[in-house]
Amino acid sequence: MRLFFAFLVGLVAETGHVLAGSRLWQPNTSTTHLDRRYFVINTDRSEGDRMIWPNRQIRYCFVNDEADDALDELINAAHDVWLRMGLGSEFTIAKVGRDECTGDHRFDTLMFYWTGDNGRMATFEGLPATGSLIRNSENPNVRPRSELTTSTRMGMLDQQLNFAHELGHAWGLYHEHQNPAFWSRGTVSNALGGSVFGPENDGNWRCQNLKDYQDRVNGGGLVVQNPNNPNNNGFGPRVGVETLCKDYDFARKGQFSARDYLPMPKAMGIATSSGMSTDDVDWSSIMIYPSGAGAIGEASPANDQRAAILLKTDGSRIPINDSPSQRDIAAMHKLYGRSNRAIAKDLLQKAGGTVTSNFKKLFPESQGNTDGSGCL
Ligand SMILES: [Zn+2]
Repeated sequence: MRLFFAFLVGLVAETGHVLAGSRLWQPNTSTTHLDRRYFVINTDRSEGDRMIWPNRQIRYCFVNDEADDALDELINAAHDVWLRMGLGSEFTIAKVGRDECTGDHRFDTLMFYWTGDNGRMATFEGLPATGSLIRNSENPNVRPRSELTTSTRMGMLDQQLNFAHELGHAWGLYHEHQNPAFWSRGTVSNALGGSVFGPENDGNWRCQNLKDYQDRVNGGGLVVQNPNNPNNNGFGPRVGVETLCKDYDFARKGQFSARDYLPMPKAMGIATSSGMSTDDVDWSSIMIYPSGAGAIGEASPANDQRAAILLKTDGSRIPINDSPSQRDIAAMHKLYGRSNRAIAKDLLQKAGGTVTSNFKKLFPESQGNTDGSGCL
């Protein structure tokens, strides 16, 4: 069942009303801006399949000693980056024993994997919700996980910043640019008609510059599995690269990197604003990709020669942001501020359906949406 999803418009913020204290006590950046814009996991069980970390604590371990040696210090440094920018000290990370991560608490802990000096990055956002399909999986590899590389040639070209970005995912933040409100309606699935990204906004979506685009052209796209179809050995139609560049679900299923750019099905996330224009984007977020992320071209620290995938609406490049923004911090406080209500709702509601349309078609008998955000 597809349920109606409403964007939570920050009514309080829109009116500029300060709930307590004086406006003079507020930081320089106005509350209006702080409260409005971010994109996070949908913890409503009737729509999404995620929940936040209990007690605002990420409990984590490493798959092996090698990963521990390579990553632990950087993970703690990344957490410090968030704290320095104003994340409440009640947000903690706790390294726990491997036995806790592999036993009954598998779905309530985060396992870190090291993908070496040249591997990929991907992190499961938040935790799978109570009663979600993911928690029914008997496959031990299905679990909250974070795969991290120590490469400085991808993402934000900096280990600590890349890890801080991944930690944002682990807490439950999605990519700022994947908010469907920002994308033009017309050709791209899930897009809600925004004036920022998408082919209809001056071609501001250059899928052809993705590193793995040419491979997909040569390889002929993705063959969709359809176990409900007894003909053709359970396979459905072939989806070409044009579609992989326009549909988040197909790109995700095809493990094509456009999935880390394209607008997500609206039920997967909560945006606290329905704003659709360039002023509504948090260009300073640590959760927005710099223009070159995942693009063809060479990059190393302070030397970014990568082509652009998305640009700002004035044609300039989206920069590499050097810390979480104040709106990132506000997003965390708001998401976890809702925790009691969300958890109570979890307990009251029976396990419902997961998300939308292609999602069910593409993940028919499986654990759902377990691979997390990849990062480029
Ligand atoms: Zn990411």
